[in-house]
Amino acid sequence: MSKQYITYNQIHKLCAESANKILSSDFTPDVILAIGGGGYIPARILRTFLKVPIKSVSLELYDDITDKMGDSVLIKQWCSNDDIEGKNVLIVDEVDDTRSTLYTCVEKVLESKPKKVGAFVLYNKLKNKHKGNHWDNEKAEKDHVNVDHYLVGAEVDDVWLVYPWEALDIDEHNSKAQ
Ligand code: 5GP
Repeated sequence: MSKQYITYNQIHKLCAESANKILSSDFTPDVILAIGGGGYIPARILRTFLKVPIKSVSLELYDDITDKMGDSVLIKQWCSNDDIEGKNVLIVDEVDDTRSTLYTCVEKVLESKPKKVGAFVLYNKLKNKHKGNHWDNEKAEKDHVNVDHYLVGAEVDDVWLVYPWEALDIDEHNSKAQ
């Protein structure tokens, strides 16, 4: 699989552009729900523009030989019900790959009766999603796990994204990104 190296500058700009889209939409987030660890840095950049608190949660793809990779997601850490109930919640992650993580997160958020749910990812990979391709098409309303707003920084092919926070040598990483 080919690799695409991403710089902090690119991430900051995607967040800034997306925050402006959110600010000019009819969805006003009350809280950002950052999915750790990839959602933390995008969430913090978004907060500069959106000026709302960040709560963090942690979900992990369940990697078991009896289970198909990417189908099951474990919730490792969650926030309090009060962080979500009656609020406009903006879920933030770095990538929508198979969508399993985001789907599970939305499903769990909906249990706490939010007012509205938005989801933002820096990158959406253009591929079939394990939980179905709704959110992108007219099938959306047929699924109980739905979002009011789905916002993507950039659409990408099914490549392997290498983020700057994974770099041991950031200068080398940046030169690979050129
Ligand atoms: P999902 O398949 O549930 O949409 O994504 C699960 C997780 O896999 C993501 O939160 C991320 O941690 C990891 N992941 C998926 N695609 C990539 C990628 O291209 N690069 C990196 N570094 N992690 C990825």
